Amino acid sequence: MEKVRVRFAPSPTGFLHLGGARTALYNYLFSKKSNGTFILRIEDTDQTRSTEKAIKQIIEDLRWLGLNWDEGPDVGGSYGPYRQTERIELYQKYAQELLKKKSAYYCYCTSFELTDLREKARKEKISFRYNRRCRFLSEEEKRKCQKENPKPAIRFAAPLEGVTIVKDLIRGGIRFFNRELDDFIIIRSDGTPTYNFAATIDDYLMKITHIIRGDDHLSNTPKQIQIYKALNLPLPQFAHLSMILGPDKKPLSKRHGATALFEYRESGYLPEAMVNYLALLGWAYDDRTTFFTKDELIEKFSLEKVSKNPAVFDINKLDWMNGHYLRKLSVSEFTKLGKDYLLKRGYLTQSQKGDLVWLEKLMALIQERVKILKEIPEWVDFLFNSDVKFELQALEKVLKKAEARELFSKAYQKLEVLSHWGKDEIEKNLRGLCQEMNLSPKKVFQPIRLVITGKTVSPPLFESLELLGKEKTLERIRQALEEIS
Ligand code: GLU
Ligand code: ZN
Repeated sequence: MEKVRVRFAPSPTGFLHLGGARTALYNYLFSKKSNGTFILRIEDTDQTRSTEKAIKQIIEDLRWLGLNWDEGPDVGGSYGPYRQTERIELYQKYAQELLKKKSAYYCYCTSFELTDLREKARKEKISFRYNRRCRFLSEEEKRKCQKENPKPAIRFAAPLEGVTIVKDLIRGGIRFFNRELDDFIIIRSDGTPTYNFAATIDDYLMKITHIIRGDDHLSNTPKQIQIYKALNLPLPQFAHLSMILGPDKKPLSKRHGATALFEYRESGYLPEAMVNYLALLGWAYDDRTTFFTKDELIEKFSLEKVSKNPAVFDINKLDWMNGHYLRKLSVSEFTKLGKDYLLKRGYLTQSQKGDLVWLEKLMALIQERVKILKEIPEWVDFLFNSDVKFELQALEKVLKKAEARELFSKAYQKLEVLSHWGKDEIEKNLRGLCQEMNLSPKKVFQPIRLVITGKTVSPPLFESLELLGKEKTLERIRQALEEIS
């Protein structure tokens, strides 16, 4: 059996999107499962749109997900270079071979002429296809054209009839009429290759056995198959992944929220959660299992179980899943990650920054509740903001003003007397207050929560007071008393 070799081949024209990340992941899982090789290839031949920055970002994002490649631009390998702009001569060589075989030809049409043709097609509401003018030029006409346009492009001479069948591992056979294929450009007049040609030559030279990519490329596959045929090269296998849709069943886009992977990283999603979630976006092991470690995915993944139907992106499920992975962290791991989000908000004083015990207490308090790390400052802002505001209305929903006044002054006394400021002592004294005033815990704790945190929902109350400290707690109760007097 030939060794499995797959590739992820991004065009570095922008950020890595969720769809691209999923394609990379499926390639990675498939290669690891089959003890194969995973290759990163940068398709940067469109030099007007490719940037170094995008290459760096894509590499960073893939590394963050933990999808490490065996061959690629930064790690090398025996089939390099792995950036298409460094392989230009190779494409030239195969283009020459196609020319020799009359499976390609020089096209002398100028961009003006082509624009005219395109315009005409648009007016007639038909899809543009090159009219093959230069395919059938006589030798003499060619010489004349060559003089007028010494920098011709090279076009593929597509078969004019018959069908090309794409045998797709996920969707079975798909027929394409060759007359629809178009004599597409393989080498531009500036000498650079186009995507369909460069990708095909590279997939061959890099000995790619399985091409797993988004189904937005399905219409390119018959073109690529025709190139393999013209050059007499062995065909790889193909698997096209269905689209990812938003909840409204339209293709996932900015309208649905963040689509770039780095936005998820920055918001505080964990790579483990992202990998798990993306794996399920178009693949399922069975109808029960939701959580998979990367190793479990490698063990269980198969193309047979990849769905033909589009997957629907559900941010709520991702958030829920991320919460699960956050809860699985140790408190110290969670603290390490969460701390950054407090710092970004400007929340930690110099002494708090260094007080690991205090910080871990704080993080332990909210770890169960947080779904995305960026929510952390919201949960604990009452510890850092000096002017915590509460709504009188919210207070009056629980207690009448007069009762609240009595509650706060008694609570003040109960707390003021504490010589050791710990959650157990705080709890004991405040529970004592419930009995004394003959009020339910809710009627005592909820108003206190409100004036301390400004919110009706907060981390556990006694721990919150402990973290806030005696002085500030008393101060807030005093202020509340003033406000309702
Ligand atoms: N460079 C192409 C893209 O980013 C890759 C297509 C392929 O995998 O063949 O869409
Ligand atoms: Zn032409």
